[in-house]
Amino acid sequence: MAPLCMAAADYKAGIGRIVITPEKPIYMSGYASRNHPSEGVIHDLWAKALVIEDSKGGRVAIVTTDLIGLPRSLTDIVAARVEKQYGIDRAQLVLNSSHTHTGPLIRHNLETMFELGPEDSQVVTDYAAALTEKLVAVVGAALQDLAPANLSFGNGHATFAINRRQKTPRGVIIGEDPEGPTDPDVPVLKVTGTDGKLRAVLFGYACHNTTLTGEFYRISGDYAGFAQIAIEEGNPGATAMFMMLAGADQNPHPRSTLELAQQHGKELATEVNRVLGTKLARVHGPVRGAFQIVELGFAPQSREGFEARLHDKDVHRVRHAKAMLRLYDDGNPIRRYPYPVQAIQFGKDLTLVALGGEVVVDYVLRIKREYGSKGIMVAGYSNDVMSYIPSLRVLKEGGYEPDFSMIYYGLPGPYDEHVEDQIMNTVHQVMKRVGRAAVQ
Ligand SMILES: [Zn+2]
Repeated sequence: MAPLCMAAADYKAGIGRIVITPEKPIYMSGYASRNHPSEGVIHDLWAKALVIEDSKGGRVAIVTTDLIGLPRSLTDIVAARVEKQYGIDRAQLVLNSSHTHTGPLIRHNLETMFELGPEDSQVVTDYAAALTEKLVAVVGAALQDLAPANLSFGNGHATFAINRRQKTPRGVIIGEDPEGPTDPDVPVLKVTGTDGKLRAVLFGYACHNTTLTGEFYRISGDYAGFAQIAIEEGNPGATAMFMMLAGADQNPHPRSTLELAQQHGKELATEVNRVLGTKLARVHGPVRGAFQIVELGFAPQSREGFEARLHDKDVHRVRHAKAMLRLYDDGNPIRRYPYPVQAIQFGKDLTLVALGGEVVVDYVLRIKREYGSKGIMVAGYSNDVMSYIPSLRVLKEGGYEPDFSMIYYGLPGPYDEHVEDQIMNTVHQVMKRVGRAAVQ
């Protein structure tokens, strides 16, 4: 090769990885039908960190996890410690969850889904404590690994996600809507060393990690776990990191067998490898982050409304009503929720938008309409997973995502009709702060 190829690197990059597989049987999250702890492990779960440092020493850290969802109570602790120990502030740290439904129950996430006995509860508490340590440590490991690197970005696409909000005469149910909106994009951020060798790849897809349904009791990362393993096997020495995008209303199709989880994972890995082999757009320039909280409100609620549910046939509705009434008794009913919105900008080339919660696909489609679909990656399930996040359209349609699921998340009820406007206004603000302009 000509010596011209030895050009100086645009960035430094460091990668850390740490196994977060539960060490003993633990309640698994995601399906309310589960009634006992996990039974073995299909493959390890991972927390992986990518730290990028620009030529002026500015740093961002992106952490991906094979987990159902990291709650604010945990990410706040991790973020405070990452800032104190490593000097990376909240705006420069992204914590994403893959939303695997064959992973452990995470303390303070979907907690009203199960009522655990003291022993099972202790296992969940211990897991959360160990996880907190590991999420801090994995960022430290990535910082230790910092070495000259170049970044490039491109988009592939996959089609195994299907919109799952099926319209019926009795309302919207979880099923299949082949006509409903989806986001087929598979964004790929390639991290290479100065020798051109692949060091890491950050990729994403907007689709629930729910190929494996409630009857599966073995721990895994679902299709995203299989995809990461396949990419790493095909690229020895490189780390593959899966980011969950805005796939709250998207399910893999078809689903419900282990073979299908492997098949979807392989499809995604093949597409990521294909994109890695094409000429990607160079990403260079300073890194900058903005992080902002917006207080979301809820539809009207009342003590009487929850009291009326105490004799409901559904055990989850009763459990939820009791929890809400306890808050009324304490004089502290939930009126608002602090929702995190974040943007990370790489020069003029790439923006990562990271939204909290289970974000429906309407948000990514709207953000790409407003900001263009080039050099952008929009993730949900970031920094806090407190509930589903409906668009106004989905909120008005009703169903599981905007309404019934709030019970499992321990929130009082659906958001109010300002939800999309408030979140998008905050997206506009963080985009402005990092310097990403709208196209219209
Ligand atoms: Zn979900």
